[in-house]
Parts: sequence; C-alpha cells; structure tokens
Amino acid sequence: MSGFRVGLTTHISPGIHHLRCGPPRSAAVRSRRLNRGQRGQAPEGFIIYRLVLWNIDLTLVDVVRVSREAYAEAFRRVTGRPLVALPQQAGRSDSEIFFESLALNDVSTGGSEQGGQDLLARYTRELTAAFSARRDLLTRNGRLLPGALQAARATAGLPGVIQSVLTGTIRPNAAEKLSAFGLADLFDLDIGGYGSDVYPRGSQLLASRVQAEEKYRVQIAARAVVYIADSGRDVEAARTAGAGCIAVASGRSTVGDLRAAGADVVLTDLSDTAGVVQAVEQLTGVAASR
Ligand SMILES: [Mg+2]
Repeated sequence: MSGFRVGLTTHISPGIHHLRCGPPRSAAVRSRRLNRGQRGQAPEGFIIYRLVLWNIDLTLVDVVRVSREAYAEAFRRVTGRPLVALPQQAGRSDSEIFFESLALNDVSTGGSEQGGQDLLARYTRELTAAFSARRDLLTRNGRLLPGALQAARATAGLPGVIQSVLTGTIRPNAAEKLSAFGLADLFDLDIGGYGSDVYPRGSQLLASRVQAEEKYRVQIAARAVVYIADSGRDVEAARTAGAGCIAVASGRSTVGDLRAAGADVVLTDLSDTAGVVQAVEQLTGVAASR
C-alpha cells in the first residue's frame, strides 16, 4: 500500500484510482465545487476516494411529527381512507411504510402487482406535495439533532470524501429535510439511495458507490465506504454491503441494539465532532497511517 500526500496530511490510500494534490479545503469551498461538478466530472482539484453516506431521519434531523402528518394526508388522498394505524417507521422506506399502512388499515391494492405499483406512484406524488406544503413546519416542529451539522460539515471537509444520503425518504422530501436545516450543500444527492427505490438498503448502498465511481470517474474501495445511521436495519445494510457503519443511538435503537447488530462504532449522538471524524478516518483506512 502506498502513502501519498493530500494537503497537509499523509495518508495510506484505500483503493485510490486517481490523485491530484492540493491544499486542504474548507467544507464550504468543497460544497461549492461539489455543486459545480454535478454534470459528472470530479470538481477541479477534488480527489475522491471514499464515500460517506448518511441516514437522515433520527440521525441528522428529527421531523417525525411533520412526516406523520404528511403520510396521513397522502394516504387519505390516495385511498380515500383515514390512516388510523401507522406502522413502525425506524429504518423503513416510504414505500415499505405505505404498503404496511395499506395492510394495517385493510385497504386492498386490487390484488395485482400493477395495482400496487400504481397506488405507490400516486402515493409518492401526494407525499411529495404534502411534505412540500409543510416545508415551514420542519424547523418549527422538528429539530436538527445535536452535533449533526458540525459532524456532517467536518466529514465533508475530510480529504477525498464525497458525501451522500442513504435514506428511507423519497428524494424530494430528503432534499426538503436537508435544506430546512442548512445541510443540503454537504451532500451530492445524485448518488444517494431513497425510499422510492425498491431494492434493499444494502443493495442501495452498493449502487451509491457505483454511481459515485461513474459520476466522478474514480474507484472507491468497498472498505472506503461508511454509513452513518441510527437503526439496526441500517447496520445490517452496511454489513451486507461490506461497508463500515457508525451507528448513532439518537433514534429508536439503543447503544446495545446497535452493538448487537454489529456496528463498527456506536455513538450516543453526534455531538463529539472529533469522535465522528476519527471514526470515519479509522473505518476508511486512513487513521492507520498517522
Ligand atoms: Mg433513521
């Protein structure tokens, strides 16, 4: 394994394909470059060799109340029925929640797969509209979780890191949640995994890595991918995909649950920025060279 120099810090390369040296850049500068680079080229002077994926709900933000109201409105508009029983949401995608809601509330999909898919497509449109209509409530009735902004900024500023999200939320609503709390510029949403995807989250994680490689024309080793998330299902997804997992006990899972699920690192919350950074460095193979 060869050492190389990026900015002021010497690192060991975990699966480097292409390198360019330059001074360390702040997260803000990186963010602007990231946006400019979204047509498919690595931004100038920005070398990507590791991918940090973040879960959104109960990892970065808590907007459960607004989400529930939007679910209920979209469900009522699509089915003509009130959403009386709401299934468990932790670690589940919006499409899973929808189909479980249909079952729990005795709504038929007409018996055909196509009928179910048509209902899901209508529900997704209604959920986007219902969420967008509640944009102003996100900060009023929701909150950024402790240390989330600082931690996401710090990891965005690490050498070689590209960040995206791996979430059960559909993409437009993921964008709303991140924008409401000033997080949007820290993530490239084009390479993320969302609640409208039908694949399991472990497969979505692998797909995100491939999308990042294709978009930025780089190679990212499986062990240079880390998922920061809050549920046992998230931990399982990372393990399935051979990625590292930093689990945060800010959701429904306890520290013990997350340890038992096999998380590499478990944190009570994101308030220790240096601890989050150190965990990312360790799991992506960089800290060993220090
Ligand atoms: Mg979550």
